[in-house]
Amino acid sequence: MEHPLKTGEESPGGNAGGLRLLFALQMLDSEMDRTRSDLERIPGEMAIADKELVSAREEYAGAEKKLAEIREGQVACEKERSEATARMADYRTRQSSLKTNEEYRAMTAQIEFVRQAIDAIDVRVIELMYAEDEEKAGLEAAKRKLDRSMERVQRKKQLLEQRAEDLERALRDIESRRAALVPDINIRLLRKYEQLRASGKPNAVVQLTRCACGGCLTHVPPQHAVEIEAGTMYNCPICGRFVVSGGEPQNGTQVV
Ligand SMILES: [Zn+2]
Repeated sequence: MEHPLKTGEESPGGNAGGLRLLFALQMLDSEMDRTRSDLERIPGEMAIADKELVSAREEYAGAEKKLAEIREGQVACEKERSEATARMADYRTRQSSLKTNEEYRAMTAQIEFVRQAIDAIDVRVIELMYAEDEEKAGLEAAKRKLDRSMERVQRKKQLLEQRAEDLERALRDIESRRAALVPDINIRLLRKYEQLRASGKPNAVVQLTRCACGGCLTHVPPQHAVEIEAGTMYNCPICGRFVVSGGEPQNGTQVV
């Protein structure tokens, strides 16, 4: 049966039934919109989880780098120390064959200079040892943190994947319920409904809310409000949305 769609105009019997179906369609579509938007948010949440892992990995890599630098410093110190020790031995050998007091004193000064250099290297070696211990602890802490992050991120991603599956299943269920419902809806109502949704009003069917259109809040005159409550079709003159009774329109409420 075809129904006239004039705003606020009383229409022949069956309106409440038509509205009830349209309202049911709106409920399904709203649920579908919410489900889709939840589903669309999941890749972003996955990316946030990955980001947490990236920062933990960077921290670990930073600690590894610091430790490697300390170890390079230790190798350099060892090399410097063995060179200085060899130089000192060489100076001492040469000193024993020097002829003049002046040459001997000059060599003594050289030897003293190398000795001080070796002392300085030894101080540095001890400092590097402490730094190495500290960085080893830092690396272990970073490793523990990374392990915890990996575990947490993996768990989070599993949950998100599970959620995506659930949402996709829900979406398929809504789609099949929608497909079963649509053929029963009056084609003109359906077209108008789809037009409203396509024009940026996803809530094409709204409830009468405190004597106003639930979509744009335009006041609905009391007489129309009574008619809406009785199940008469009403399109808001401002936004065009279907305004239905505050309670879900029921079959039995129609006044013919
Ligand atoms: Zn409105």
